[in-house]
Amino acid sequence: MADTPQRPAAARPRRKAGRHRGEGQWAAGHFTPLNGNEQTKKDDDGLHVRRRIETIYAHRGFESIDGADLRGRMRWWGLYTQRKPGISGGKTAVLAPEELDDEYFMLRVRIDGGRLTTAQLRVVGEVSQEFARGTADITDRQNVQFHWIRVEDMPEIWRRLESVGLSTTEACGDTPRVILGSPVAGIAKDEIIDGTPALEEIARRVVGNPAYSNLPRKFKSAVSGSPVLDVVHEINDVSFVGVEHPELGPGFDVWVGGGLSTNPKLGVRLGAWVPIEDVADVHEGVVSIFRDYGYRRLRNRARLKYLVADWGPEKFRQVLEDEYLLRTMADGPAPAQPVQRWRDHVGVHEQRDGRYYVGFAPRVGRVDGATLGKIADLAEAHGSGRVRTTVEQKMIILDVEQEQVPSLTEALEALDLTTTPSVFRRGTMACTGIEFCKLAIVETKGRGARLIDELEQRLPDFDEPVTINLNGCPNSCARIQVADIGLKGQLVTDADGNQVEGYQVHLGGSLGLEPGFGRKVRGLKVTADELPDYIERVLRAYAEQREDGERFAQW
Ligand code: SF4
Repeated sequence: MADTPQRPAAARPRRKAGRHRGEGQWAAGHFTPLNGNEQTKKDDDGLHVRRRIETIYAHRGFESIDGADLRGRMRWWGLYTQRKPGISGGKTAVLAPEELDDEYFMLRVRIDGGRLTTAQLRVVGEVSQEFARGTADITDRQNVQFHWIRVEDMPEIWRRLESVGLSTTEACGDTPRVILGSPVAGIAKDEIIDGTPALEEIARRVVGNPAYSNLPRKFKSAVSGSPVLDVVHEINDVSFVGVEHPELGPGFDVWVGGGLSTNPKLGVRLGAWVPIEDVADVHEGVVSIFRDYGYRRLRNRARLKYLVADWGPEKFRQVLEDEYLLRTMADGPAPAQPVQRWRDHVGVHEQRDGRYYVGFAPRVGRVDGATLGKIADLAEAHGSGRVRTTVEQKMIILDVEQEQVPSLTEALEALDLTTTPSVFRRGTMACTGIEFCKLAIVETKGRGARLIDELEQRLPDFDEPVTINLNGCPNSCARIQVADIGLKGQLVTDADGNQVEGYQVHLGGSLGLEPGFGRKVRGLKVTADELPDYIERVLRAYAEQREDGERFAQW
């Protein structure tokens, strides 16, 4: 779910870009708020809303919540109002935010590095069952999202989550969000460097730190020492990617300024090599540049990618070194091209200690509280109690002895959590969509799950890796521009002239091997009902016409 509403153009007042009037950069002395969001942040730190929730709102209920807290600061603690049921996608652009608000919330639990113990997973499952009507989605940023949360229950939910070391702090809002990490850090046989200490130090320094709780917009970070490049490093605000320096040894290559949404940009390399002990310093430098130099005038120009695009990587590195690190960084190499297309770690893989990790695939990240409890039981019975989430809406159980693997995979299959998914189950992701998201125009999760089942039946022999990403609106929470088949939810006209749910199709996007954005094929829109037929046609044509060595992304 996009944190900051990018309301459709029709609902936005017309305004001039006005760059000559300044972009509201603090470093240029512009501290006067230039829009409502900046004013809300100046009026009170989003982190302070927790106290009001615990002492006032949880006792007096939804109606007592101040408007700026409800639609602004509660995000600093992972809370968004969810969409009132029954409001069609056609109303999204025309209704006022308060008309879309339900009295229930989405609650996001941050899981830095996707790292969970079974004790934590069990508590997540219990919270889901007791307070969230069983909902629990694994997101494509390694988080868990609950729905149907009441403000009255938040003190108890926080008590339970925090009793096992979990947190919702800055899971949303204009803050340093969850820090993505390789889900197989420290165990993978092919790992270049284990980024875990750096990830932990970054979290210790920035999460909940008032020095970084008023950023221009959200700030996404990633650390991975895996050659699989498993943290979508190309589309974070800052990423640290494991590389082997020919003289200095293993360390990290720094990327900045990536992001999707309505104006996608791939991150750029600074060309700097950073040893693991310096990663948190560099991260703090980059987030500080964003805080100080980031654009605060227009919300849709406030991500770091716009500053990086204007400055270029050379100036960005210079400012980082001269004003924040007060030292120069060594030059370093780019990461090698990954040798495989899938980056989700699904399947059974040997660890470097001789045990195994077992990755499995829920459909479009959708699980439920009861299932999470069962996964925790299985991880305890077969492994050492360590579970991971991935950026592909998948999960992994670590540390399984070889003789335990068959009984674990069998038990997972019984939960419909296969370790040998079809390419369609493996490669399909979906955002929250109209079921709960106030910005959505169309449904996604249920449709994505049904699409998987349809394609498995229609194309049982299709085994080429293919990614199909469904979004409920243009905000790209499910990364449509970098999917082989990206589906951007919108209303389309059907054969009878009716406005119905459908998708604008983007073809040929990719991350990893040859990153690039899919091409929006002019006029290529499909209704939701036509979607399985359309994708079947595309994939059949590709299978019949492809040449040796050709991949779908090159199509
Ligand atoms: Fe994100 Fe989907 Fe909601 Fe749009 S509909 S804001 S892409 S979760």
